[in-house]
Amino acid sequence: MELTRRHVFAGAAMVAAVPLFPSKPAEAAAPAADKQAPSFYRYKVGDILVTVVSDGRNTYPLEESLITNVKKAEVSDALAKAFLPRDTFTVHYAPLVINTGGKLVVIDTGNGPAGKVNSKGTSGQFLDNMAAAGLDPKAVDMVVISHFHGDHVNGLLAADGTPAFPNAEVLVPAVEWKFWMDDGEMSRAPAGRMQGLFKNNRRVFDESLKRKVTPYEWGKEVAPGLLAVDTIGHTPGHTSYVLSSGSGKVFIQSDVTNNPNPFATHPGWHLSFDQDADLAEKTRRKVYDMVVAEKLQLQAFHYPFPGLAHLEKDGRGYRVIPAAWNPAI
Ligand SMILES: [Zn+2]
Repeated sequence: MELTRRHVFAGAAMVAAVPLFPSKPAEAAAPAADKQAPSFYRYKVGDILVTVVSDGRNTYPLEESLITNVKKAEVSDALAKAFLPRDTFTVHYAPLVINTGGKLVVIDTGNGPAGKVNSKGTSGQFLDNMAAAGLDPKAVDMVVISHFHGDHVNGLLAADGTPAFPNAEVLVPAVEWKFWMDDGEMSRAPAGRMQGLFKNNRRVFDESLKRKVTPYEWGKEVAPGLLAVDTIGHTPGHTSYVLSSGSGKVFIQSDVTNNPNPFATHPGWHLSFDQDADLAEKTRRKVYDMVVAEKLQLQAFHYPFPGLAHLEKDGRGYRVIPAAWNPAI
C-alpha cells in the first residue's frame, strides 16, 4: 500500500473521530519508570577500550548574550531546524575513561558533586555512571585535563573537597596551567565570569590538589596512544587529543565546538564561553576540515551522548553523522 499525504490526513481525521488514545490513560500493571539507565558507552580503538561516561546535561534559557555575533531569533531558527526547542540551550557533558597500555586514564571530569547538587542531579553524574560501568575512581592511574573550565575540572574533587581520584597523577596542559596560575593574569581578569573562573581554578588546584599536577606539552603522548594537540581559542591552553592504536584512530575534540546544534552547523557563530572567539573559530574550521578530509571519527565532550560521530562538509557548516549504537564492543 502506498502511503500518501492524503492517507495520513484521512488517518488523522479518523483518529479525531475515534480517539486512538483514550483521554484517561489506562492503568498499567507495572509502575512507570522515571529515569534512564546509567549512561555509559564502550568502544574499541585498536587495543584500547574507550568508555564514554556521561556527566549528564544542563538546559538553560536561551539568552541573547549566549552567541555574541548573531541575533537570538536566528539562533532560535537554527535550533528549531534541528528539532530542538527554540528558547532553551542544552549543554551535554561526556568525560572519557580509557584503558590503554595497562593504564586507566580519565579525560576531563565533569561538573563534580557540587554541580550535581546545584543542578538537582541533571549534571554531575560522572562518578555515579562510572560506578554503574564498574569503574573504580581509586583504580584510575591518570586524569588528563583538556582545559580549566568548571565542567572539566570540578569533578577532580569528591563531595568533601578531597581528590576524587586519590591515586591518579593529574596531567594539565602546560600553557593552560601557566595562564590560570599567573597572579598577574588573575589581577587583570575582567569582573564576572573570568574572575569567577580564576577563583574556581585556585579553589580546585590550590586548596584541594595543593598544586600536585604534571604539566604536559602539545605534540607529545600524554598517556600510551594519547597524543596532545594544540586547539587554542576556547581557552589559552585548550587541548584536543588523537587516540590511536593499531589501525584505530579517534580525534577527541574537547570543546572545539559545544553542542553541534548550532555550533557545528554554524562554525562562524561565537559562543560567549570562547575566550578568544576569532581564534576559536579559526581552530574550529581547521580541525573540522582536517577531520572531514581524513574521515576521522570524532569524540566530542559537548555532543549529545555518547558524542561519537563523523563529520561532513555541508554548505557553510558541517553535518554531524552520529555513530550507530553498537551492541558489541
Ligand atoms: Zn566545556
